[in-house]
Amino acid sequence: MKTYLVGGAVRDKLLNYPVLDRDWVVVGANAEKMLALGYTPVGADFPVYLHPTSKEEYALARTERKNGRGYKGFSFHASENVTLEQDLSRRDLTINAIAEDSAGQLTDPFNGQQDLTDKILRHVSPAFSEDPLRVLRVARFAARYAHLGFKVADETLALMQVISESGELQYLSKERIWQELERALGEKSPLVFFQVLSESHALERLFPELKALLSNLTSISSQKNIELEPRLQSLPTAGQRLAWLFFIAQQDQASADLIANVQTLCRQLRCPNTVHYLIKHTATGYPLLSLWASAAPSAKLNFIQSADLLRSPLKVAPLLAIIQALDYREVFKQQDYLAKFSQLLKQLREIDHQALIKQGFKGAQLGLEIKKLQLLHCENS
Ligand code: ATP
Ligand code: MG
Repeated sequence: MKTYLVGGAVRDKLLNYPVLDRDWVVVGANAEKMLALGYTPVGADFPVYLHPTSKEEYALARTERKNGRGYKGFSFHASENVTLEQDLSRRDLTINAIAEDSAGQLTDPFNGQQDLTDKILRHVSPAFSEDPLRVLRVARFAARYAHLGFKVADETLALMQVISESGELQYLSKERIWQELERALGEKSPLVFFQVLSESHALERLFPELKALLSNLTSISSQKNIELEPRLQSLPTAGQRLAWLFFIAQQDQASADLIANVQTLCRQLRCPNTVHYLIKHTATGYPLLSLWASAAPSAKLNFIQSADLLRSPLKVAPLLAIIQALDYREVFKQQDYLAKFSQLLKQLREIDHQALIKQGFKGAQLGLEIKKLQLLHCENS
């Protein structure tokens, strides 16, 4: 039995990139041996085990065969006889198909090291097109390494187009898509992810609400001669970035359609409530703030209440950061709208309910009086 370091850890070490997690492959073992050595099996789907002390993932070398739809439509064959080369040949990219033994010796049957030097994301074999998840993975790696100069190989892009056009993307689970999207949004150049998906003919199929994203970005940048990507990168979380991207992609929509599209996107993605919140309230908050001086007091109050900004002060900064990052015309900045908005929140929070109660207001009357004061502050803001 022999173990090798594989996948991202070998790739990132060769790239001098931080190694976050380590995956191992075990050749010449089987389930009984692994259990006897104290490894714990992970789930039932794959022959993968956790190391008794390091808890890192050790997978038995395996071959796989496509026998169904989507990412799960594979049958595996793992036995003592599966070789390292056979295991490496089922992997997605050449740069992910390099193994390192305990002496530091590399096994690289698909010239992954050369592709690392040439900065090419290239598939290992035609079997690449059997798993639609690889379209998302390659786009994500492109987003991660774009700043180093990495590009998707033409022949790999051609296979990604074949996958998209085959209709297989629709068999990916929503959870898997969300997981890949969330990770891609956290990469160094998130826009490259969407660029590569678009070139793969997958963007419209996976995220129809974002289909106008790239053309809108191009037209904004060329009109105003401004760089938008740093604005996106200034946002720290995946949810904030998605809210920003969604708004750019949908900026020409009428407001009712915009809100309907938020619902569709979030239902489709099954994204967490916190992300839904950011997308929704960016879509309503940005247009409101851009017309702040002329907005109706009731519209201001509605927004603040539906975004729960009075009771949950921690929600304010992340939301305003997105709105500010969208303000490429610098309207808010010139008009000081964000400062005015924060000032208004402060005034609304300082309305003294106890004082009103002491004055004799109660029940519905108290509610009406508070609302009157709130609207007055909104009007003066
Ligand atoms: P990361 O740094 O994001 O962890 P990684 O390359 O290690 O990148 P993992 O998802 O941890 O990615 O997978 C480990 C390895 O397993 C990959 O490098 C690749 O060789 C292989 N692999 C993972 N998913 C697939 C897939 N869908 N198709 C083919 N090979 C895959
Ligand atoms: Mg990994």
